[in-house]
Amino acid sequence: MNFRLVWPVVMLALCLKAPVAVAAGLVIEHATVLPMTGAAPLPGASVVIEDGRIAAILPSGKAIPRGHKRIDARGKFLIPGLTDAHVHLMSDDMARLYLAMLGLDLPTKTNTQDAVLPYLANGVTQVFNLQATPGGFAQKAQIASGKVLGPTILSAAMIDGDPPNWPVGMTRVARTPEEGRAQVRKAAAEGYDLIKPYSQLKLETFTAILDEARKLNLPVVGHIPGRGQDTAKFVQPGLGMVAHAEEFAQRTSSPDPSLIPRYVLLAKASGAGLIATLTLDDRLLEMVRDPNSLKARPELATLHPTVRKIWLEHNPYVSRATPDYIAFIERIVAFNKLLVKAFADAGIPILTGTDAVVPGVVPGFSLQDELAALVAAGLSNDQALTAATRAPCEWIKSNCGTVAVGMRADLLLLDGDPLADIANTRRIHALVLGGRLIEKAELDRRMAALTAR
Ligand SMILES: [Zn+2]
Repeated sequence: MNFRLVWPVVMLALCLKAPVAVAAGLVIEHATVLPMTGAAPLPGASVVIEDGRIAAILPSGKAIPRGHKRIDARGKFLIPGLTDAHVHLMSDDMARLYLAMLGLDLPTKTNTQDAVLPYLANGVTQVFNLQATPGGFAQKAQIASGKVLGPTILSAAMIDGDPPNWPVGMTRVARTPEEGRAQVRKAAAEGYDLIKPYSQLKLETFTAILDEARKLNLPVVGHIPGRGQDTAKFVQPGLGMVAHAEEFAQRTSSPDPSLIPRYVLLAKASGAGLIATLTLDDRLLEMVRDPNSLKARPELATLHPTVRKIWLEHNPYVSRATPDYIAFIERIVAFNKLLVKAFADAGIPILTGTDAVVPGVVPGFSLQDELAALVAAGLSNDQALTAATRAPCEWIKSNCGTVAVGMRADLLLLDGDPLADIANTRRIHALVLGGRLIEKAELDRRMAALTAR
């Protein structure tokens, strides 16, 4: 189209849009702000939000700009929104592929709003979709356009060796270093945010994928392939995040805690951080010990009926639950707690991630469980909260994850201090999503409607 013909239309549109741009912002007044920047809490501060960003943080007593909607947050605590750095979003194509894999014929129609609402209800304002299908990629666009109310999504393209662990569609396949590089370039061209190298890749291809991703500035979050092979060869510069603690544990059938100091040095030297997924291990152990434990979890009512049916009637973990398997999972759980604590003590970045919707891991609710699991593993409340806020945003170099001027206004207003008791992250009074205030009552109403459906 000829630009000169378009220009008057653009000018007119800008003129018409002008009054909207100066619409009132939001001020959260008199809260105790936990900036999560490393700075001390700010009691009685007021946070000014304009155009979806934090415009100012005013100390107690400072005059508030006029014309903004004001929220009296006396006695409340304001923290950044939470990130689940390891999820699998349910979309139509994902459901179809998964059911075909299990040989089941069940309804696959998914509703994006229903799939992402539980994240918001639990304070999760950002997720990393670590196995994005084209359907999952489209969900991201639906949220970005405002059609669906949901967390910010980063989409990872999974690249595996041949044969891959997952069906093509959920994963891409690379047999050679050249194919690995080509898959990274393709994913970048398609607009993917992250690269996820997977378990069946050969070392040369894995290394080429890391190198190509570095050239294209795409962060890499991966599994450690080559079970039984030398871990040190795979944990190399360019592997930004290891997707699970159990990637280290599962190097052998009997994880050896005496290897943990070596893994710490390895991660330090390569610059890799760790997505803990401790809650995944807790749920797995619970399920294999007692398959009925799942039914006792009320949050299962928020799941897609097909997902719930798979968990309760066709659960692949439960069917594997021999005494040997249970003992194996017990060793993994014990090892992972020690590993995550050792990594945190060494200053290696830890991110909260849950692996929802793996059986037992309920979207949104699982992130709250993950925070509790990190503290149970020996991390301080501050370390756990950092893993869910600043650390993931720092890793993807995004302006989120702290309460600071210029940051995206994804915030949680809590009824209690999470640095005093991590369980207070569950006491959500209100959510701010991209500058938009969503009161607890609205979240509750939407969740009740979802559960009723
Ligand atoms: Zn996963």
